Amino acid sequence: MTPPFLPFALPEIGEAEIAEVVDTLRSGWITTGPKARRFEADFTAFLGEPSLQSIAVNSATAGLHLALEALGIGAGDEVVTTTHTFTATAEVVRYLGADVKLVDIDPATLCIDLAQAEAAITPRTRAIVPVHYGGLAVDMTAVLALARRHGLKVVEDAAHALPSTHGGRLVGSFASDATVFSFYATKTMTTGEGGMLVTRDAALAERARVMRLHGISRDAFDRFTAKVPSWAYEIVAPGFKYNLTDIAAAIGIHQLQRARGFQQRRAEIAAQYDAAFAGLPLVTPPQPAAGDVHSWHLYAIRLADEAGITRDRFIEALFERGIGCSVHYIPLHLHPYWRERYGLRPEDFPHSQHAYERLVSLPIYTRMGDGDVQRVIDAVRAVLKG
Ligand SMILES: *Cc1c(COP(=O)(O)O)cnc(C)c1O
Repeated sequence: MTPPFLPFALPEIGEAEIAEVVDTLRSGWITTGPKARRFEADFTAFLGEPSLQSIAVNSATAGLHLALEALGIGAGDEVVTTTHTFTATAEVVRYLGADVKLVDIDPATLCIDLAQAEAAITPRTRAIVPVHYGGLAVDMTAVLALARRHGLKVVEDAAHALPSTHGGRLVGSFASDATVFSFYATKTMTTGEGGMLVTRDAALAERARVMRLHGISRDAFDRFTAKVPSWAYEIVAPGFKYNLTDIAAAIGIHQLQRARGFQQRRAEIAAQYDAAFAGLPLVTPPQPAAGDVHSWHLYAIRLADEAGITRDRFIEALFERGIGCSVHYIPLHLHPYWRERYGLRPEDFPHSQHAYERLVSLPIYTRMGDGDVQRVIDAVRAVLKG
């Protein structure tokens, strides 16, 4: 009997999430309302910094767009980020008519190489967007120092990084201009689709709240009247439709309560993989500094050249054994849009290119039992020894 297919990722939705969604559906208020506000308050409490504001949005992509828009990024500006990411990190810069400066990764962390980021800065550079790849926090002390030296804004793409720490501080609580989390179905916690923009900048928060919902401002109306009637609002900008529904927030409230437990289970699986793969012809993922938390959104191995099998064939062989894998990422410099827009060549990004050709993301999620983990371990061993 062959066991059922083990997918690459699965969300873990419990009875509490389901009951909260049902409560929302019965309540009569299903779009942005009390549950979204509660989710935002809970998120700020989770980060443990009352000076932060959390703004719920319908995707991390939306949150990144809103953050850069609120910072005034536009035509003629440049934003530096890594080629080794999902296109959402960079596409939002293009929404605003600004240009993306892609740089290579540090092969030791698979995160942006800060020396190269610094070398890519020009008089037009306005911001840097570090990505906490796989859930390993970028050295934010170094990012913030670099940003201060060059007068740059910092927007963290923390789509993978709940909860992750650097120097004992949670990602989201650093002195960046904004940090954006994703609650997409495969992320460390989910609302189906959703995201959270976190900032300690009151003006950024206000602009993002207005632009999240059509550029509607009730406060603007307030300037002219003592009391704002319930029907009253003013449009102050051509905003977007990026609000999170209460149906989604209902899921998020309970996922957030379980986020630390989810991380512990993921860390357990990562430790089992680390131990089992020692001695095999592969590079296990970079570890966090002692005492730091890795969210383990991804467990991405790199096949060694001695493995004697191509990355693509390795993924096929695992698939034949009923195991789903993925690749994070096909770097941006290989995609036609980015390649052609900026004339990018693989040799400009040797570390990202080298990693890409060898990277395999193995299943790592809370619904995997010990038997599932063992199946992956056995399959990896069999394929690399066969
Ligand atoms: C998933 C992801 C995003 C986009 O998140 P959405 O919530 O799907 O918009 C952005 N950046 C990275 C690195 C991601 O993995």
